[in-house]
Amino acid sequence: MGFPKTDLNQIKRHPKRGAYDRDAAYEIIDEALICHVGILEQTQPVVIPTIHARIGDKLLLHGSSASRLLNYARSGKPLCVTITIIDGIVLARSLFNHSMNYRSVVIFGRGELVEDDEERMTALKAVSNHLIPGRWEEARHPNHKELKATKVVSIPITEASAKIRGGPPKDEEEDRELPVWAGVIPLRLQPAKPEADPQLGTDISLPKYVSDYVRLK
Ligand SMILES: Cc1cc2nc3c(=O)[nH]c(=O)nc-3n(C[C@H](O)[C@H](O)[C@H](O)COP(=O)(O)OP(=O)(O)OC[C@H]3O[C@@H](n4cnc5c(N)ncnc54)[C@H](O)[C@@H]3O)c2cc1C
Repeated sequence: MGFPKTDLNQIKRHPKRGAYDRDAAYEIIDEALICHVGILEQTQPVVIPTIHARIGDKLLLHGSSASRLLNYARSGKPLCVTITIIDGIVLARSLFNHSMNYRSVVIFGRGELVEDDEERMTALKAVSNHLIPGRWEEARHPNHKELKATKVVSIPITEASAKIRGGPPKDEEEDRELPVWAGVIPLRLQPAKPEADPQLGTDISLPKYVSDYVRLK
């Protein structure tokens, strides 16, 4: 089931770039490392970056019990989550037609607190796996005190849209012959060489899930 088009989520600007199917949106949500959550602090919009994860049709956020963001998100007040992947800089012959290749998702929803401890652990595992699969199995798991200090909020993904721009620049017909280089500089988020903690024991070797880490699926 795709997302029904509503007054809020219907893409008006470049509607052909829009997608309302869950597969397209979930691929972007799962690939992106972070999201930006928009909340309304009385009459002041505030947008906060944070890590997310997805289980089925739910987006999960976690953070300190004292976090304003988490406390807002658990309150059931309306929020907006934006997720962005940058794929390239699009260089047109005219400055006006420069652009970016991207894949993005905007979700409108309301969060609810996850209270059951087992569900909270499942959510935290999803967040860990979202960042780096394999880490959950090796690192120490949250203890009672740490769990108490952590809030987990679940946001049902019901009203959302994806927007995708790909391909070469779109220049005006009359600019095509200009002697200006045009094309795309692809951009990818890739890990650099891992840097061991200076306090790491010399007998601990680099795990395979770290040495093989990639963001591209
Ligand atoms: C990396 C990146 C760079 C961009 N740079 C620019 C820029 O410099 N200038 C510019 O004008 N636009 C840029 N965009 C496009 C921008 O995100 C908006 O789509 C565009 O500005 C139209 O905004 P609007 O509110 O008029 O859209 P509308 O089409 O009126 O928005 C209606 C609804 O469509 C959905 N929607 C809109 N945009 C997106 C989106 N990007 N992803 C998912 N759903 C969306 C939302 O649900 C929104 O409520 C960029 C997008 C990305 C991802």
